Amino acid sequence: MNNEPTKFIDENGLRVDGRRTDEIRPMKVDIGVLSRADGSCYLEWGNNKIISAVYGPRELHPRRMQRPDAAVIRYKYNMASFSVEDRQRPGPSRRSSEISKVSSEAFEPVVMTQFYPNTVIDVFSEVLEADAGTRTAAINAATLALIDAGIPLKSLVSACAVGKVDGQLVLDLNKKEDNEGEADLPVAITQDGEITLLQMDGHLTEDEIKQAMELVKNGCQQIQQIQREALLKKFGQYEGADTEIQ
Ligand code: UDP
Repeated sequence: MNNEPTKFIDENGLRVDGRRTDEIRPMKVDIGVLSRADGSCYLEWGNNKIISAVYGPRELHPRRMQRPDAAVIRYKYNMASFSVEDRQRPGPSRRSSEISKVSSEAFEPVVMTQFYPNTVIDVFSEVLEADAGTRTAAINAATLALIDAGIPLKSLVSACAVGKVDGQLVLDLNKKEDNEGEADLPVAITQDGEITLLQMDGHLTEDEIKQAMELVKNGCQQIQQIQREALLKKFGQYEGADTEIQ
């Protein structure tokens, strides 16, 4: 039996999937893929495959859940049972409830809910195939699905994870790096640099956190560019097209 610890970065500085430490996986985006949803987006990111669908704004029932001054955002993250190596037990879990909650909060500062009092905006993100980074992939897809639904956003939300393997910071962890590495830090950022999601699993020093934030900001910028291009392809132009992440 081989008891050598896993090596994540080779002598050329390349990772197990051939990427540099600051390189994100290839991302492919398709907006408006579901005819019955008000807005939708299919997103592939490395081996992740995600579909996000938006329904609403529509009247919220039961009425006691309504907000008279704003729409309520309901975000549901779900992993299909066939999306992971071991079959995923259907139905909500602690993990999916947590991801749904933090993802919903990632959108609260940008969705202009004040235009739709007493309503609900339902966002469903279904993971069809998972290879780490699914919560961030789902946020990237959901942003585009919300825009596809015609819901005004103050900004795009772009999300990516950063982490640590072999003592080095790496951008956009794959499953092996996520599951066996030293740290995983998913982040979502708006175009003006506001952080709307920040979680951390594992250990990083204060200095490493500062460096990780720079690295992940750069990753989010690359993703924002992909989101913009997808929007331009679908709609020709949109208002935020010239705004940069600070
Ligand atoms: N994973 C899995 N089964 C689970 C949860 C996670 O196989 O019940 C895998 C899956 O590939 C997932 C990765 O582990 O993408 C990392 O999971 P994590 O909880 O860190 O969330 P994510 O990085 O996907 O947002």
